[in-house]
Amino acid sequence: MKTKFIFITGGVLSSLGKGLAASSIGALMESRGLTISMLKFDPYINVDPGTMNPFQHGEVFVTDDGAETDLDLGHYERYTHAKLSQKNNCTTGKIYHTVITKERQGDYLGGTVQVIPHITDEIKRTILELTDSVDVIITEVGGTVGDIESLPFLEAIRQFKGDVGKENVCYIHLTLVPYIKAAGEVKTKPTQHSVKELREIGIQPDILLCRTDSFLSPEIKAKIALFCNVEHDSVFTAKDVESIYEVPLVFHQEGLDEKIVEILNMWTKAPDLSVWEEICRKVKNPTDEVTIAVVGKYVNLRDSYKSLNEALIHGGLANDCRVNLDYVDSEEIERNGPGDGISRADGILIPGGFGQRGVEGKIEAIRHAREHRVPFFGICLGMQLAVAEYARNVAGLEHAHSAEFDPDTPHPVIYLMKEWVNYHKKIVERRDEESAKGGTMRLGAYPCHLVRESLAYDAYKKKVISERHRHRYEFNNRYREPLTQKGMRISGVSPDNELVEIIEIPDHPWFLGCQFHPEFQSRPWEPHPLFREFVRASLEAKRR
Ligand code: GLN
Repeated sequence: MKTKFIFITGGVLSSLGKGLAASSIGALMESRGLTISMLKFDPYINVDPGTMNPFQHGEVFVTDDGAETDLDLGHYERYTHAKLSQKNNCTTGKIYHTVITKERQGDYLGGTVQVIPHITDEIKRTILELTDSVDVIITEVGGTVGDIESLPFLEAIRQFKGDVGKENVCYIHLTLVPYIKAAGEVKTKPTQHSVKELREIGIQPDILLCRTDSFLSPEIKAKIALFCNVEHDSVFTAKDVESIYEVPLVFHQEGLDEKIVEILNMWTKAPDLSVWEEICRKVKNPTDEVTIAVVGKYVNLRDSYKSLNEALIHGGLANDCRVNLDYVDSEEIERNGPGDGISRADGILIPGGFGQRGVEGKIEAIRHAREHRVPFFGICLGMQLAVAEYARNVAGLEHAHSAEFDPDTPHPVIYLMKEWVNYHKKIVERRDEESAKGGTMRLGAYPCHLVRESLAYDAYKKKVISERHRHRYEFNNRYREPLTQKGMRISGVSPDNELVEIIEIPDHPWFLGCQFHPEFQSRPWEPHPLFREFVRASLEAKRR
């Protein structure tokens, strides 16, 4: 079958859930037996979001090949089986970087390099690069229609229809239909204006997805269809839902997938949504609940822990329980000691992080978890600080710390490894405190060998695993001996035994820290083993 292309744009305002809409459409296409790939265009000039502050950008999602990407790719992986890599996220910065590099090499010799056609051609090439052996490519254009930044992307997808034929392209526009309390009705004007804007650029949407808090009446849909020049059965309600995992089902009930395959003139098998029905049944009918304290710095910004939150929910699904997340500000612990948030928790989790702020509060929370036998899960920075806590308070290594936070510590239990093997580039990398910040981390999937007698092996039930990384600092091998002597267990290491990947405390209900980010590989239909076991242990702790 010839590859078909779905383009998703957004109007009126941001945060309408375009990423979730795109992911859900991906899930619906897969439920019909189609193979898909997903692509996200981001209109900002950073080459990737790797160096961006979580306040600005939310979580940085990491793919197997070590690309630092937009958090929407996390949704794509949680909803679909699409294999994502650095090819699946592209920014204005990356496009310009490629074009300018080509210009310097002399590739356009004699020509004036312009937005049209050079930038737009490069954008189209990015889409076409994904066509290999998939039936459908779903491309989400970041930003809101009307922004200056996204214009080259919109122009490129406009041209695309002419290039590949109109029967192979479907434009979907997501807008807002707000309910205005004073008038007692929903308003269609913002949608009309947003579509007008899109049509001025030359794109006539085929489908409108209208975000609202209730279902739209046939009259309202007819009005939107008339003013926006779409067929009346092409206006769909994207109703607010309780759980994000309901979105594919709600879209399907509205007939969205049927309409898409009709527009793209595709014959598919009947959709099988049993996986999503099962997930939603579990989400809605938990038999129990647990409270997990997530101790971090960006507690007001849920978006910076997107994959983590979802992975915890998945861990709950595996145990038939609801997971209540209690965000605890680590600086608050520094000021006033572990308070209610910590003592209420059935389990304590310290996520990844960068920077000095709140570090001592996190160490305090870890100490509480260890001493009070509360299940503990430390991820990346959380694992590093668990090592420092153990070194200080159990192994008697006074002032032990990560060299990231105390360069002069007498016991740098976590430090910058001067030489390490970059598994992806197949080279030995060297680095020190002066190394550049962008792209110098250990990134992407690395294999890890597990020790048989361990919580980790009990969870994964296999000897070799592969997990994704995003960090600069590592466990200092000089401290293996003194720490394991005092009871710490090293249960996961790199195949060459150079890198410590997992640590545990055996004499504890469940205490595990991992140098990698397991949350990136959790799926609602396949909860990650470590999250499953952490939630299980927390549930047991609660019942004790
Ligand atoms: N700041 C730590 C490092 O760079 C941990 C990073 C993380 O948690 N992702 O090693």
